[in-house]
Amino acid sequence: MTDYLTGLNEPQRQAVMHGEGPLMIIAGAGSGKTRVLTLRIAYLIENGVDPFRILSLTFTNKAAAEMRHRIENSVGYEARNIWMGTFHSVFAKILRIEARYLGYTSDFSIYDTDDSKSLLRSLVKEFNLDDKIYKPNVVFNRISGAKNRLVSADDYLNNSIIKADDDAARMPEIGRLYKAYTVRCFQANAMDFDDLLYNTNVLFRDFPEVLHKYQHKFQYVMVDEFQDTNVSQYLITRKLSAVHRNICIVGDDAQSIYAFRGANIENILNFEKDFPDVKTIKLEQNYRSTQTIVNTANSVIARNKTQLKKEVFTVNEEGSLIEVVKANSDNEEGRLVSTSIFEEKMQHNLQNNDFAILYRTNAQSRAFEEALRRLNLKYRIVGGLSFYQRKEIKDLLSYLRYIVNQQDEEAFKRIINLPKRGIGDTTVAKITVLAAEKQVPIWEIVSNINQHVSGRSTVPIEQFATLIKSFKLLLEQQKDAFEVATHVAKTSGILRELYEDKTVEGLSRYENVQELLNAIKEFVDNPDNEEKSLSAFLQSVSLLTNADEPDDDGDNDRITLMTIHSAKGLEFRNVYIVGMEEDLFPSQMMLESRQDLEEERRLFYVAITRARHKLTFSYAESRYQWGRLKMCEPSRFLLEVDQRFLNTSKTTRNLAQRDTPATPMGFLKNIGPKSAPTRTPPVTHQPSDNFTPSDTSGLTEGQQVEHPKFGFGVVSKLDVNGTDRKAIVKFDGIGEKTLLLSFAKLRIV
Ligand code: ATP
Ligand code: MG
Repeated sequence: MTDYLTGLNEPQRQAVMHGEGPLMIIAGAGSGKTRVLTLRIAYLIENGVDPFRILSLTFTNKAAAEMRHRIENSVGYEARNIWMGTFHSVFAKILRIEARYLGYTSDFSIYDTDDSKSLLRSLVKEFNLDDKIYKPNVVFNRISGAKNRLVSADDYLNNSIIKADDDAARMPEIGRLYKAYTVRCFQANAMDFDDLLYNTNVLFRDFPEVLHKYQHKFQYVMVDEFQDTNVSQYLITRKLSAVHRNICIVGDDAQSIYAFRGANIENILNFEKDFPDVKTIKLEQNYRSTQTIVNTANSVIARNKTQLKKEVFTVNEEGSLIEVVKANSDNEEGRLVSTSIFEEKMQHNLQNNDFAILYRTNAQSRAFEEALRRLNLKYRIVGGLSFYQRKEIKDLLSYLRYIVNQQDEEAFKRIINLPKRGIGDTTVAKITVLAAEKQVPIWEIVSNINQHVSGRSTVPIEQFATLIKSFKLLLEQQKDAFEVATHVAKTSGILRELYEDKTVEGLSRYENVQELLNAIKEFVDNPDNEEKSLSAFLQSVSLLTNADEPDDDGDNDRITLMTIHSAKGLEFRNVYIVGMEEDLFPSQMMLESRQDLEEERRLFYVAITRARHKLTFSYAESRYQWGRLKMCEPSRFLLEVDQRFLNTSKTTRNLAQRDTPATPMGFLKNIGPKSAPTRTPPVTHQPSDNFTPSDTSGLTEGQQVEHPKFGFGVVSKLDVNGTDRKAIVKFDGIGEKTLLLSFAKLRIV
């Protein structure tokens, strides 16, 4: 038997060595699902399966790269030939090959969210609609939702049941916008992210010969994180495995966190119906975390009503209690967490890589960044504004996109007057309208401007067209993407403009463009890339997810800061789950229904189960939001955790000596608007001199209490539910607050 099989437990071994037929592994976090999937692929290849005939779908490109690397260690070079990647990247590759069936060329552009919204903004204007009602964001989400449910624009227009009620009443034109958006994308030879899945479905539905080809090609299909596939993704995988029926899915319903994106927990339930002969394997042993962490996670998820029953246990060490850290402000939270990391590193001789700070929303990173920088701790932010979203990078990429595909309307709009060449928005609008009237591509007008428009104003457009034509010629003559891109960066004037800007920002933008050119060079030199054309590079860039971002200086030993959503599947020795406050986590937007709250709780479960050795929760009693100081209550999730596993000693500090909330200067400096937003002065109740928290076990309704921050108030309602004890207190001048009594420090007056 191969070495790597010896370390596996019995059900893991069964899964790895399962032969033909559908296989389902639904098991808890850290039980080795991803490991089993990886080893199974290696096992298949060792047993003679052609890597070209294995399709493996992962959640990020990074996860795919890691998997491929592990498999390569076992089976060697052959591993490179596995079809492995995210749904989007794998199906973009298939669409590229089969583009002509759908009327696209293989050089199609991939619109990112900004492109899509910019196009929608134009359409809203062209339709003379109110952009306060038809916000690009909202319209985009509606269209995206429809596509993920495989509802076409025509279906949407013709079937009123599909339209959500509020759309029909408030935004009756969504269907028409959806239709126009689809037409314009098609004319631009462009697909957005949702189209990559939607069009794959169309391709397989309308062209049985194409489906047939891939159905026979892929002898084995594997899907990791199956709980987060949406209907559209599920249908594709189901069709692809209909011939060989060797589909293996792994997932955990307790970690399903993308319902808002159309991911559907019912896929797991449907799977058993679609593949009635499925072999189901349970993995119950967690290898990742300490007993305390596993039990904490179990105690949380047990509160969800909707879940498939499964046991999770571990024989790992018991481990330390979960630390709860209370801070009086978001800035202090940043400091306390950073200091804790610093101390842990020293005490246990750890690397930065051992740590992750997980938060609910990206905006929370600021306080941690500042504090970490002060302690000289290196960190990496996953998410946020990525390299490829920076203006100068998008500018050059748009040039490259346009040279590859002159139908790309969004790229055209971006570069027509960049660097400034005196072509205003009105001229661009005129050209667009003219193209629409004559039913020809915009490039047709631009490249022959004198035939369509007369007058002096055409000169800069003519120059622009000549420039693009010269770039196109270069592209046709020689295929090396790097040389073409370098030439474009220089000749277009982009580099010169940045070079002349001698400010620090200008310099860094110049360096970023250089960095993009380096990335293209690497792409061209990388033997793993079968195709080295500019068009292949552009598509690969469009499909990068935030988690795939390179580190700036090659130093990979960094603390990871990320949202819980992007932490899925990962593990770290020490994890800090921060911002554990009501309205933040659970998010205010997720409190309306049981389903939403349960999804939020699953997110909490995902967060907890990322930790191997040590877990810390932190919360702040006040934080700045939109430039206002807001008082916060500890999250209900802190109470839902079985309290035996918590160490709350760090939450009881001498409240009378609290430092005042930190000033929001950092906030203003980094992300806030230039001028200070109007702020209400912080509510600063000075606690009475004799303030010591009372024992609140005998608290009754109607009693007068003092809170160190909210001041004096009267208990209007007590709510005792098992270990959860809450009081609604009406504070003078502040109003009602719900307090969790095991955390709130109250003095009975
Ligand atoms: P998640 O649900 O979070 O994606 P998972 O079920 O995919 O988790 P893995 O990431 O595959 O779990 O495994 C969790 C950890 O346990 C990894 O560090 C893995 O190497 C380790 N592990 C899994 N199985 C074994 C085993 N049989 N022996 C030793 N370590 C194992
Ligand atoms: Mg996994």
